[in-house]
Parts: sequence; C-alpha cells; structure tokens
Amino acid sequence: MKEIIIKSSSHTYPIYIGESIRFQLNEVLKEDYSSILVVTDDHLEKLYLNSFLQSLNHNKVHHATIPAGESSKSIEQFYQLHSAAIEYGLDRSSLLIAFGGGVVGDLAGFVAATYMRGIDYIQVPTTILAHDSSVGGKVAINHENGKNLIGSFYPPKMVVYDIEMLDTLPLKEIRSGYAELIKEALLSDESFYDELLNTNLQFLRNEHLIEHLEKGITTKATIVEEDERELGNRKYLNLGHTFGHALEAELGYGNLTHGESVAIGLLFALTISEKEFDMDMKVKRFYQWLKMNDYPFPVEQLNINKLFSRMKVDKKTVSQSIQMVLLKDIGVPVMVELGNEKINEYLFLFLEQ
Ligand code: NAD
Ligand code: MG
Repeated sequence: MKEIIIKSSSHTYPIYIGESIRFQLNEVLKEDYSSILVVTDDHLEKLYLNSFLQSLNHNKVHHATIPAGESSKSIEQFYQLHSAAIEYGLDRSSLLIAFGGGVVGDLAGFVAATYMRGIDYIQVPTTILAHDSSVGGKVAINHENGKNLIGSFYPPKMVVYDIEMLDTLPLKEIRSGYAELIKEALLSDESFYDELLNTNLQFLRNEHLIEHLEKGITTKATIVEEDERELGNRKYLNLGHTFGHALEAELGYGNLTHGESVAIGLLFALTISEKEFDMDMKVKRFYQWLKMNDYPFPVEQLNINKLFSRMKVDKKTVSQSIQMVLLKDIGVPVMVELGNEKINEYLFLFLEQ
C-alpha cells in the first residue's frame, strides 16, 4: 500500500493507494466514532456496498444511496442526506464515509462540512477522476445557474483509494480520469507526460495505474498544499478547463464526460502555448494518443461564437477578458490574458484544423 501525506491548513491527512485496501479501513480508523454513515450512489451500491459495510466493524453503521450522476449534486439531495443523518441520530462525533466517484465525494463532503457545523469524513474514491476530487478539500453542490457554486473547503480525515474497484469502470470514465492525469503530468514533468502518452487505456495494467495515480495525486497535493484556497498557484489546475468547461456546457452535460471535455481543452491550451511561446509541447503526439484511446472530438457540432461566449463566463475571467492557463514549457504554467480577437483566431484555427 502506498501512502501520501497531505498537509492542509487545518490538519494533516493520509492518502492510501492499493488493491483491496477498502477492507482495511477498519484498522486505520483510530477515532472512537459514535456512528458511521456511508454515502454511495446506486451503481456502486449494487457493485460494492454490502461487502464494504460488512467490513466495518462497528455496531452503528448506516448507509444512504443517491442516484448516480451529476444531477445528484443538488440542494435536494444535500437536504435528504441531512435528513438521513438526523434520522439515524448522527452526532458531532459521528463519521461520514463518501464511497463513490466525484459526485458522491463532493456532495457527501459538503454534507459532512455542514452537518452540525462539521463532522469528520473519509473519502473512498471509486473512479480515476476522483483522484482529483478527493484530494484538496473542495466540496460542493451545484446551483441551477452553475456548477459547484455552493460549497466550501473541507479536507477529509483520510482518503482510501482502492484501485480494485476501478476494474468495473466503463472505458468512458477511464478516459475521463486520464485527462486530468495528463493535465497533472503537463503541470509537473515531461517524463510523466511521455509515460502517459505511451499508455493504451484499453490495456491498462494495475501497477501502471497505481503509479500514474500516485504521480497525479502528488502533483495535485504539492499545488494545493501551497495554496489551499486558490489564491495563487492552485489556479494552474485549471489548465485545459477554460475551453473544457465551455465545451462541456455547450454540448450538454451527459454527452461528454468532464475529462473528455478537458482532454480537448488541453489540446487547445497546448496548441496555443506552442504558438505563443514557440515551444514543442508534443501536440501531435497528444492528438494521436487521444485518437488511439477513442476520445470523442465532436467539432462539427461546435459553434465558435457560442463557445466564445461560454469561455467569457469562466470563473477566471477578469473584467470581460478571458484568462487562460498556458504552458511556457512542460511543468511551467502561466496565466495569460489573451485579447478577444486572438482567442477567436485560435478558436477558428483549432476547429477548422
Ligand atoms: P461520478 O461520481 O458521477 O462517477 C461517474 C460514473 O461512474 C457514475 O455513473 C458512477 O456511478 C460510476 N462509477 C463510479 N465508480 C464506479 C466503479 N468503480 N465501477 C463502475 N462504475 C462506477 O463522476 P466522477 O467523474 O468520478 O466525478 C465527477 C465530479 O467530480 C463532478 O461533479 C466534478 O465537479 C467533481 N470534481 C470535483 C473536484 C474537487 O476538487 N472537489 C475535482 C474534480 C472533479
Ligand atoms: Mg477538472
């Protein structure tokens, strides 16, 4: 089992990565919790819940299941989980366990942050993408006007990443998670980037997966430890996301996964970076990697004007001017303000290519 230690502003917490380690959670639970509430979604309930509940050696273990999917990051599900916590008699010394992907992690984490002004929680991520969502302490639900608008910074007590559960992930979700790993490689070092570009996701081996997750998490951890509240360098984690979010919103949630949209966003950011800084970012190789792994590239459905307007409502936009994370080199991100004209020009070039 690998262990990575994260230092947050409030406490230090471990991330464990390994095969079948969810069944060892009981051993590392040091606190004397009065009761435990396990939150999961309906896909995971069928696959993994019973054996997990049985492994928790505690006489007050409850569980609550939400419908799978982004629409569960809602005020209604948030309220229902609070109701469940009250009904089960959870108190300030109870523990919540978020057993699922980023949706369960963000929602259950926010419930933990707010129930009785905050109780302990543990993340048990079950998707590759959740290596990103379970580390760094951001928890949130969506408002109808935008994603993650209601939330807080609330780090977990521990993250238990059992990669055995990743075996049942559909390829689409593997692609989604790997896009964020590519992003982390681009923010850290070229050898990690090369290693990922040599990985065929259809034939992924567990030892490689563990290594990639460990490197991705270490990169994210280093950035969030320096800047937990996103006042400085944490913004660089938005590499690929200005275009990615616009694409995700434009094509409708549910069509492209978050990571599939980010993958195209990364391709866009790298293409611009090569032109702006005259550096080789291996854009062609990255494009071939995306093709080899069947990432969707639905350019024919895209309209430049609409994408441009979406990019303008990005959280990073300052007085109407689009800010994008670009790379001066692999591992050297910079925040750049590009004029409207230039962005349009790049969009045109990118989508016409
Ligand atoms: P998700 O939780 O919806 O999971 C994707 C799908 O895979 C779901 O249908 C789920 O039921 C299924 N699934 C999960 N684990 C499985 C398994 N082991 N086997 C089979 N199926 C499984 O989505 P996600 O991609 O994990 O996370 C996306 C969410 O994460 C978004 O809401 C995003 O905003 C959030 N996020 C948060 C942060 C953060 O810092 N808090 C960072 C990145 C993303
Ligand atoms: Mg992301």
